[in-house]
This record gives sequence, C-alpha cells and structure tokens, in this order.
Amino acid sequence: MFKATRPFDALMDITARPQTVFVRGKGSYLWDDKGKRYLDFIQGWAVNCLGHAPSCVAEAIAAQATQLITPSPAYYNAASLKLAKALVDLSCFDQVFFANSGAEANEGAIKLARKYGAQHKGGAYEIITFQGGFHGRTLATMSASGKKAFEPLFEPKVAGFRKARLNELASVKALISDATVAVMLEPIQGEAGVWPASDKFLNELRALTHEHGLLLIFDEVQTGIGRTGRLFHYEHAGITPDIMTLGKGIGGGVPLAALLATEQVSCFEHGDQGGTFNGNPLMCAAGLAVLEELGKPAFLKSAAETGLHLESELQKLSARHGLGEVRGRGLLLALDLKLPIGSAIVAQAFESGLLLNSPQPDALRFMPALNVTREEIAEMIDGLDAILTKAGAARRVA
Ligand SMILES: *Cc1c(COP(=O)(O)O)cnc(C)c1O
Repeated sequence: MFKATRPFDALMDITARPQTVFVRGKGSYLWDDKGKRYLDFIQGWAVNCLGHAPSCVAEAIAAQATQLITPSPAYYNAASLKLAKALVDLSCFDQVFFANSGAEANEGAIKLARKYGAQHKGGAYEIITFQGGFHGRTLATMSASGKKAFEPLFEPKVAGFRKARLNELASVKALISDATVAVMLEPIQGEAGVWPASDKFLNELRALTHEHGLLLIFDEVQTGIGRTGRLFHYEHAGITPDIMTLGKGIGGGVPLAALLATEQVSCFEHGDQGGTFNGNPLMCAAGLAVLEELGKPAFLKSAAETGLHLESELQKLSARHGLGEVRGRGLLLALDLKLPIGSAIVAQAFESGLLLNSPQPDALRFMPALNVTREEIAEMIDGLDAILTKAGAARRVA
C-alpha cells in the first residue's frame, strides 16, 4: 500500500508546487522555513489586499475568536449583520449572502438567476458566459467557465451555459433565446491572462440585458475590493449589475466570499440556500477590518495611483526588453512576454526570492498588496529586469 513517506506526499498532488515550506509573512514579504525571504507579487492570488498578516485583520480575528466563533447560520450574529450592512451601503446592492469561496458565491449567483428565471421568466435558466472566463472549480462553476482545459474534464458538465466572446456584443446577441435568464462575466478575465472587458462593452451589455429583461451578473471575485483602484470594478463603467460576487480580497486572507443582489432579484426562499460556515462571525470580523482599512481617506486613491505607477514601470521594462503590452487596471496587471517563457521566468524569479505568476505561457500577472510601496515595486522591477536580461542573452546565444 502507498503510504506517504515525506510530508509533501500526504497532500493530494493537485498542482506543481516548489518544494518549499512557507512559515511567515508580513506585508509584501514571505519567509520559508530556511529563513529565505521572498518579495510577493502574487499575494495568495490577489487575496491579501493588505499584504501578509495585516495587524488590523489579525487583531480583529483574535478579538472575535475570544467572543464568538460561530453560533450556527440559523441565528444572526453581529459581525455578519455589520458586514452585510457595510457592503450594501458601499455598493448598488440591497442584500448579501456570505459564502466561503469565490466558487461557492458564484454557485449562489447561478442558483439565484435560475430561481429568478423560474419565478419571472417562464423557467428560463440559461446563462451566457464567456470564452476564457473563470468562475471556480465546483462542477457548475467549471461548466460556467470558458477555460479550454476544463472542457474534457468531469463530464457531463452542468447544462445551461453558452459561451460568447468577450468584447463582441454580436456574439452575445446570437445566444439570446427564450431560455436565457442572465449574462455573467468577469469585468477583467483574470485567470485567462488579465483580459479586460472594455467599459464600452460593459455599457452595451447592460443596455442589451435591460432590453431583453436579462440579469447581468458580475463575477468580481478577483476585481472587487479595490483591486482595480475602485472598490468595485463596475464603478469604472458607470453601470450597475443585478448580481455581483466577491471573494479573494474581501477577507484579507481568510476564506470569505459574498453574493450580492438588488432587491428585485434577491428572491431566495427558505431552504434554497445556506451552508454551515456561511456568514460566521470569525471570517466576517476579518471582512469588516478590511473594509474599514479600505474606507480610510485616500486608501483607494493611493492604490489607484500605485497601479498607474506599476503600469508605467512595467511599460518601461517592456520597452527595454522588446516585450509586448501591459494590460489590466489598478493593481491587476499583466505583461505580454510575446514568447512562451512565463513559467521559466516564474521559476527563476522564485530562485531569486521573487514570487510572480504566469497565468498563460506568454504572460506574467501582477497582483501585489494594494498598499505595496514604490520601493517594493522598484525591487520587483529590478529583479525581473535581471531575469529578462539573462533570458534575452540566452536567446541571442541560442
Ligand atoms: C479565484 C476566482 C474564482 C474562484 O474563487 P475560489 O475562492 O478559488 O473558489 C471565481 N471567479 C474569479 C473571477 C476568480 O478569480
């Protein structure tokens, strides 16, 4: 019988991971068990919006843990009431359901749209999603995703998702039928390599969905909570969706996600939706600490400026090395490498103590803490510059 011999072997091998064990993090830095320091421009996949172990989140969790960890989702608790009210006050939505992951929040959005279709649209249940889109790893959210690699997996998929092309309104129109209830998208496709929907396209989508009585669902799991320089990405386009999901940054590092809906659409009845840990006060206390920090004067303005600074530094780097465009918004940016060298660069960066992500073979993605400093950006750019110089020299020799 196979019995795990090394500590690594007792975990299911679900992704290629460096054989390094991380033990500590603070701000933009992580340390492994050998004491090596890494500058982190991944931040748990755009999760640690305030960096590693922010004291406001640590203190909120510690304080809440001594008071009440969970009373059961069948009872109200103060932290979830406060967080729901804060999210409603800060957004265009009226009601919130808390979840434990982005995928679970999106499952809730899909269910809510289907419920709305059953109640108001003669049982319409199809949701138009997008090629390249990513909505999570549950069966329904994998089915909603437009990721090529998901296509052959775990058949049969959940039915009812039809895929349009981002920024091509005609491709959406062509899929609308009596069975359609909603259109769902990430305003910036993160996992696909940071491909933004244009503000024009988002406005056209809003007009089209209104015209056909369809719901517009924004998956802001990656773009929400200040990541693009506004609290929510939909604010950039000047439109309001009917449903939005949040995850990643909302908990400042802990598992917290949310499904938000306007009053007209918020139609769950008793028994439709729930979950053991949903809205537990421990995670909601972390969410409250995050919102309090982001709500401080100038926090988001400063994050937006830092995003512009990083963008311009990446553009200069790209020009120096003859690379491609810089895409994205705020502190969700990608650099087009023009060659499939992303994973080689990520591996060399790791060796040199720099954590970078390559969501596609020819792109690097940058999702640092929203309070990353100019010095840390300079350190990252210098490190990447050295790696690109070496890679360029190797190519010229070869
Ligand atoms: C990460 C992500 C998800 C999935 O969130 P999990 O917390 O990993 O389930 C869904 N949608 C988008 C846009 C994401 O970036």
